[in-house]
Amino acid sequence: MTEAAIEIRDLQKTYAGTKKSPPKHALKGVSFDVPQGQVFGLLGPNGAGKSTLINIMAGLVNKTGGSVKIWGHDIDADHRNAKLNIGIVPQEIVFDPFFTPFEVLENQSGMYGVAKALRRSEELLKAVRLEDKRDAYARTLSGGMKRRLLIAKAMVHSPPILVLDEPTAGVDVELRKQLWELVSELNAEGVTVVLTTHYLEEAEELCERIAIINHGECIANKPTRELVGMMGEKIVRVSVDKDLAGPIIDECIVRSEVVEPRVLEMTYDKGCTSAGQVLAKVQEHGYAIEDVTTREADLEDVFVQLTAPSEVSA
Ligand code: ADP
Ligand code: MG
Repeated sequence: MTEAAIEIRDLQKTYAGTKKSPPKHALKGVSFDVPQGQVFGLLGPNGAGKSTLINIMAGLVNKTGGSVKIWGHDIDADHRNAKLNIGIVPQEIVFDPFFTPFEVLENQSGMYGVAKALRRSEELLKAVRLEDKRDAYARTLSGGMKRRLLIAKAMVHSPPILVLDEPTAGVDVELRKQLWELVSELNAEGVTVVLTTHYLEEAEELCERIAIINHGECIANKPTRELVGMMGEKIVRVSVDKDLAGPIIDECIVRSEVVEPRVLEMTYDKGCTSAGQVLAKVQEHGYAIEDVTTREADLEDVFVQLTAPSEVSA
C-alpha cells in the first residue's frame, strides 16, 4: 500500500470570535501527507496552529474547511475507522487522579472495545517503563511518568499512527531523551509517529521529514536532510582585533551580523564563495583575524530564514 498514513488537504479553521476577541483564522488551507512508517515532525512557533491541526484529527475541534484522511479513512465520512487508526497524546495532561496506571489503560481499552484477551495493558506499562507503578494512584506520578502513561493510553487499541502534541515541552533533558527513545522504539516496531514541537533540535534528531507551519500556513515540507542542506549555506564566525564598524556585505554573503563588538557572523553561499574568500574580504576591510569557527547551516538557520517577517503573508 502506497497510501499516506495521513492525508491533509486544504485544511481550514477559523475560531469564532467572542465579544472580547475577533475571529481567528488559525489554519489557512494546510495540505500535506504523512508517509507511512516515518517519524514526521510538525514544527512551528507557539500559536502557529499545530494543536489546532492535531485536535481536528482527534475530533476535538471541528474544521471549517478541507479534508483529513487517516489511514485512508475520511474523518467525516468514516469517523469510526479514522478514530480506530490513530492514537493521540494531547498537549495538556489530564487524568482522573484516583485511577492507577493499570486502571487507566484498562478503562481506555474498554472505551475502544478492545476484548479482554487482546488487551495490552501490562505490555504497554512495560514499554513506557511504568510496570512498577502499575497500582500507584495517577496523582502520585511525576510529570514525566504521567506523560509516558498518556503515550501508553494512546496505544491501547494498537493504532498504526501515534500523534504526540509537544511531548517534551517543559520536560527536563533526561526525560526528553527517554521520550525520544520511546518514540524511536515504537517507530522501529512499525508505528508511524507524528510529533509537534517547537524545539528544532528535537525535530532534527528524531524526524525523517518535517513540515513547518507558521501563522496557519505550511511553509515547508521536506525530508529533514534536504531541509537542513537546502540552502547550501555555511556560517563563519570571525573574531577580529578591533571593534567592527559594521557588518561586511558581499554578494555571496547571505547574512552578516555583528554579534559582539569584535565578532562577526556571516552566512555565505557555498556555491558562490569559500571560507577563505570570506576571510580575505574581512582582511580587505582592515581587520586582523584572531579566531575563526565555521559550521554548516542547521535547521535553526533554515527556520529563521523561512519564518523571517518579510516572508510572512498577511
Ligand atoms: P500551536 O499549537 O502551534 O501553539 P494553536 O493551534 O494552539 O497553535 O493556536 C493557533 C491559533 O489559534 C493561536 O492564535 C491561538 O490563539 C488560536 N486558538 C487556539 N485555540 C483557540 C480557541 N479555542 N479559540 C480561539 N482561538 C484559539
Ligand atoms: Mg500547541
